[in-house]
Amino acid sequence: MIAALLAPLPAAAQGGAVTFEFQGRAVSVPRVGTKLEVVPILGLLGAEAAYSPAAGTYGVQFKDHTIQFAPGQRSVLVDDQLEEVADAPEASPGGVAVSVAFLERVVLSPLGFHLENTPDGYRIVEGARFPDVVGVRVAAADFGTTTTLVVTLARAAKAEVRDDTPGLAVIHFAGATPQIDTSFPLRSRRVRSVTADKQDLTITLTEGVAVLSWHALEGPPRVILEVGRRPPTPTPAPLLSQRRRAMPLVVIDPGHGGDDTGAESAVGMMEKDLTLSVAEQLAKDLLARGYAVRLTRDGDQTRALTDRTALANRLDATVFVSLHANASRATSARGAETYYMSLDKASDEDAAAAARLENAAKGTSGNGNSKLDLILWDMAQAEVLNESARLALDVQRELNTLLNLPDRGVKQAPFVVLKGATMPAVLVEVGFLSNAAEAKQLADAGYQQRLAAAIAAGIEEYLRSAP
Ligand SMILES: [Zn+2]
Repeated sequence: MIAALLAPLPAAAQGGAVTFEFQGRAVSVPRVGTKLEVVPILGLLGAEAAYSPAAGTYGVQFKDHTIQFAPGQRSVLVDDQLEEVADAPEASPGGVAVSVAFLERVVLSPLGFHLENTPDGYRIVEGARFPDVVGVRVAAADFGTTTTLVVTLARAAKAEVRDDTPGLAVIHFAGATPQIDTSFPLRSRRVRSVTADKQDLTITLTEGVAVLSWHALEGPPRVILEVGRRPPTPTPAPLLSQRRRAMPLVVIDPGHGGDDTGAESAVGMMEKDLTLSVAEQLAKDLLARGYAVRLTRDGDQTRALTDRTALANRLDATVFVSLHANASRATSARGAETYYMSLDKASDEDAAAAARLENAAKGTSGNGNSKLDLILWDMAQAEVLNESARLALDVQRELNTLLNLPDRGVKQAPFVVLKGATMPAVLVEVGFLSNAAEAKQLADAGYQQRLAAAIAAGIEEYLRSAP
């Protein structure tokens, strides 16, 4: 492959040195058999090879790239990724010598350069000849008027969406070639095809459909695109965000309701009644602090878990707080706990148990399509997870102070009710109904008021420092 692109070492240089040019400067590079001393070439670029006697390796640092190789070794580390090469570097009088193929593939390409032949050697030119391959997987979720496309990358790579051609969403990869993973067939009524060519992944959209917005996320690296028909008039987004800044809206979700009673204390206190009662106190407290408040239910109604966050999303709420009460087989378990969303792992066994209990609520909808759930989650909580964690910490700190509890931190668990919320969202378990002493406290109106005040103080603390 290299031979076809580059002439072998020029005849004029046989046995002697080869001239390398870079930005008008030139250096004479000694040959070592079929290889070339690499140190002068790096020097020409302004990069340095540092030798580590302990490891026997050479490390090249150039801009934000690192390359590590060792004489006699066919494995090289390029930007922390292990690569196998056909011909190992070898020890030489000048330190280490490499083949022209190695030089271009391993050293120059990652740094964004390639070689061109000159009469007496080579010229180093901008632009990598061998962009690294990056696997991509494209998934789609169709909604009423828009489709969310999630392009997951097998590894981190700089990608940018170009949406200047109507009907096309082109994701351009800087220094990488996308390779489509076809084991996950894409189905969407707004996508015609997905193709990869050179450094572009091209998503062909159906008639009249355009990219509405896009953003990149990390862990795992992915690009999220929202496509649909462009609205005829510009949306009054600035107004909305102004209003949002003027008066933050807190959506309070009293857990359970209707047939779904939730946990129950030994003396018959039901979680659904306790959560509504605390929610009402919390609403009053937040209103008094100057915030707008909405409850997901104001009486003994049944609500699907997904409808609760859907309401918060529709209202463009600033934060979402779901209230619950815990139950445990360990009747001594007590105290309030604040949770935020995790994709699949709970932070410990107790957190996992709490999530199982709450997820089992009646009226849960939207299950049975885990891929769609995953995309929704990607769209929603992933972006605000750090904010959710901060909100959880602020609320838990106030609860700890109130209850005089040692700080146990906040927990993460896969609660369905937090899934899909597009704003910072937490779930507060206000106490254990399974603990007789605590259940008695929880039934007390004064205690409920203090709990509500602590949660409100935590929310306020968060909102004051929110971006
Ligand atoms: Zn509950």
